[in-house]
Amino acid sequence: MRIAQIKQRIVQAAERTGRDPDQVKIVAVTKFVDLERINEALSTGITILGENRVQEFMSKYPRVKKTVEWHLIGSLQTNKVKSAINRIDLIHSLDRFSLAKEISLNARRSGKRVKALVQVNVAGESSKRGLTPEEVIPFIKQVTQLEGLEIQGLMTIAPLGEPEGSRLVFSRLRQIFEQVSELDIPGAEMRYLSMGMTNDFEVAVEEGANLIRIGTGIFGSRN
Ligand SMILES: *Cc1c(COP(=O)(O)O)cnc(C)c1O
Repeated sequence: MRIAQIKQRIVQAAERTGRDPDQVKIVAVTKFVDLERINEALSTGITILGENRVQEFMSKYPRVKKTVEWHLIGSLQTNKVKSAINRIDLIHSLDRFSLAKEISLNARRSGKRVKALVQVNVAGESSKRGLTPEEVIPFIKQVTQLEGLEIQGLMTIAPLGEPEGSRLVFSRLRQIFEQVSELDIPGAEMRYLSMGMTNDFEVAVEEGANLIRIGTGIFGSRN
């Protein structure tokens, strides 16, 4: 486990840009990670776990005894919404209106409010999901009309490559985040900017991320 080193690097990246490092939260990405190592991470101060797939999340959820926040960071199939949304604290991957409608329907049925970030495909990669930057504001205006759904920010995944290559992507997302924030759209509160992974989290922190999603940097490589 390398959580102490990651935290140290977050502090340094925050200080380089005059940010408060306590504003940056680590989502420990536990896909393919077993329970023992998850518990080890939790004992070193991790409080947020991120899973990619609903199925894997559902099998781990009842076995993690500590109180943690669970975030869903991978793409969510509409038919999985019902089983997952009561237990997920934040969805990072809202990327289409049909999914928003399904979340809203199930949230209303269970009398809950579901929190989600809008996933943005800033770099326009065909392999990645997410809205184009131009679609974000109209989309947020549309989905905030739905009951039971709260938009709490934006998420992106930068293209693979050198960490510096992510900087433009992250600064663009930050700009969109600020634009949305200034519009004061009812039902949309820009609280979370989820960007940066093991490879590029320091650049993300420098560009304003307050949720960073770290898998291999904490748990080592996934087989
Ligand atoms: C797997 C995954 C991560 C973590 O990736 P690492 O490079 O292992 O830190 C972050 N975000 C998403 C959406 C992922 O699927």
